[in-house]
Formats: sequence, structure tokens, C-alpha cells
Amino acid sequence: MLKISLHTAQKVIIFATLLAHVFYLFVFLLMGEEILVVTNVFSVAIYLFLIRLIYDSLENSKIIMVIFQLEILFHALVCILMLGWGYGFELLFLASSLILFFTSFTYKFFNYIVVAMQIILSIACYVYLDGQPIKHFDGFKDLLFIFNLSMVCVFSVVVSYLLESSNLFIFLSILEKKEIAENILNHDPLTGLLNRTSMQQILSKSELYKNKDFAIVMCDIDNFKKINDTYGHGAGDAVLKSLSGIFKSTFRNEDKVARFGGEEFLAVVLGIKKDAAVSIVERVRETLSKNIVEFEDIKINATMTFGVVAHDGTGEFSLEKMIKQADSLLYAGKRSGKNIVISADYDPKG
Ligand code: GH3
Ligand code: MG
Ligand code: MG
Repeated sequence: MLKISLHTAQKVIIFATLLAHVFYLFVFLLMGEEILVVTNVFSVAIYLFLIRLIYDSLENSKIIMVIFQLEILFHALVCILMLGWGYGFELLFLASSLILFFTSFTYKFFNYIVVAMQIILSIACYVYLDGQPIKHFDGFKDLLFIFNLSMVCVFSVVVSYLLESSNLFIFLSILEKKEIAENILNHDPLTGLLNRTSMQQILSKSELYKNKDFAIVMCDIDNFKKINDTYGHGAGDAVLKSLSGIFKSTFRNEDKVARFGGEEFLAVVLGIKKDAAVSIVERVRETLSKNIVEFEDIKINATMTFGVVAHDGTGEFSLEKMIKQADSLLYAGKRSGKNIVISADYDPKG
């Protein structure tokens, strides 16, 4: 978006400068300065050509600025040599330097030459003219001085705005890349759930469950080896993806779910009492057991077994012990026939 606005700003600058040259054209006509009128007709033609280039391709933008810079330099020089010092055209050298913002990095050597030329020309003109005007159009002199000074001021504001926007653009794109990288780092690529490392980081933050009821849920796909052996690894992956999708839509937003191992998952249900936590897990189990995974021409029904350990948020606890207890309940569920939720309160001695 900011990239587009840089291009738009360039269009505005070129259009505004075209209008400024039309203004000069009328003023020089009124002053009867034929050479300057001809110079300005030539300048207007250059700006019309630049506008055509802008609309032709985004890639022309740097070369447009180079021509723009040379035109300002040439135009200012002719005006100074015709009218003398004090009409404000000497200030336009400054505007020409500001355009370096657009062209730097690409034409560095050219930029240095242009800036050196501006300094030499300014000094040479000042010395040659002894700092005095050649022609004495007093009313027009003030008008042109104020106009040229305003042009340089407006141009400085536009360039500083663009500088700020381009910094912001770089900053935002770094931020976006950082977010993408973090997302890749924290999630399991197959299921899109949190991965084991990021889950362990989340769980290690004690403020997550401080003085809050919470439950640790360990679960594992039933007979998954058989699914892989019967239908192939691709089918197994499709089951993993489908079940993970159900996790995402059935657990609440505030709960955290991670793929903890191959076909093993760990969830933390936050801020509710044991019965409510168990009923959420029961709802997940039921939804999973009714789910049919379609893979190529095969329809697969996979179930899961769950172990739930609840803590009321008061008193000390060891996360390691809680996970171990949830795992034991999960295996008790496997022994009792699978596709079941087994729950218990956290036992500090367990
Ligand atoms: P149980 O009901 O007791 O859990 O039996 P099970 O067959 O699910 O358990 P077992 O531990 O014997 O098998 C787990 C299988 O999961 C073995 C392994 O090949 C498979 N597995 C682990 N990770 C992936 C994976 O990313 N994709 C696929 N397709 N299979 C996986
Ligand atoms: Mg299993
Ligand atoms: Mg397993």
C-alpha cells in the first residue's frame, strides 16, 4: 500500500511541477521574457513526456526523477542567467537536491556530480551576478521569489513524508516476516496446531493458570497403526489433519491444543471446573467419533481416547506430574476399550 503511495506521490509531484511551469509561462509572457517563455514551453513538453512515462510503467520511476532533476537544474540556471539573483530560482537548486531521495542508491555517482554542479553553479552565479538582479521587475520579482520559496518548502514536506512512509513500509514488512517466521516456528506443519516446544513454553508461564481452575488433557488416536497399515501413510496424515480441524473448532478459543507427539495431543482447558472441562472433552470425543475422514475413495472413522487431570488453581502443582497423571489416565482408557474420557483430580503425591 505504501509502495503505491510512493508512486502516487511521484505523480502528484510531477503534476504539481507541470502546473508550476504553466504558471511561470504566464508570468514570463506578462514580463515579455521571450527566451524564458520558450524555455518554459520546452519544460512543459518535458513534463508531459514524464507523465506519459509514469503511466507507461512503474519501472520508469528512477529515470523520471533523473530527468526531473536535470530539468529543474537547467531551468533554474537559465532563469538566473536571464533575470539575475533574487527571483528565488537559486532556491530551486535546493529542490533539485531533495530529489536525490528518489534516485540515491541507484545512481549514486550521478547524484554526487549533480550536487557538486549545484554548489559550483550557485557560487559561480552569485559571484558573477554580485548577488544582484539583472532585470528589475520589482512586482514580479517578489511574486516569483515567494512562489519559488513556497515550492521548495512544499517539496521538502512531501519528501520528508515519503521518507517516513518508506521507513514505515520497511518496518511493517520486517514485522510481517517476523510474524510469519514465528508462526512457522510455533506450529506443527501438518496439523497447524501448536507444536510441542511452543506448548511447553506456554505451559511454563505460571500466570496462565494462577488461581484459576484448569485441566490438562492428553489424548491419542485409537488403532492408528492399523489405519496406516491398512490405508497407507497418506490416509493416516489425512486423519491427523481432520481430527486436528475438529480440535480447533470444538475446543474453545482460550484453550491451547498442541500436537505433542506423532498421534498424541495435549490440550489445556483454562478457567473452568473439572466437570465443565470434562464435558468439553466429552463433546470433542463424541464429535471425533462421528467424524468420517474421506481420503481418495476411502472413508475412515477414527476415534480417540482421553485422559483429563483437573486442578482447582489453589496450592502448588507440578506440571510434569500432571502430564504424567493425564498420560496414565489415557492408558487406563486404552486398556478399558478406547474411545473414552477418563478424568481425575490432580494428586500432589501421584
Ligand atoms: P493405540 O490405540 O493403543 O494408540 O494404538 P495405535 O496403533 O494408535 O498406537 P501405536 O503407538 O502402536 O501406533 C502409532 C502409529 O502412529 C505408529 C506411527 O507410524 C504412526 N504415526 C506417528 N506419526 C505419524 C504421522 O505423522 N503420520 C502418520 N500417517 N502416521 C504417524
Ligand atoms: Mg494411538
Ligand atoms: Mg501413541
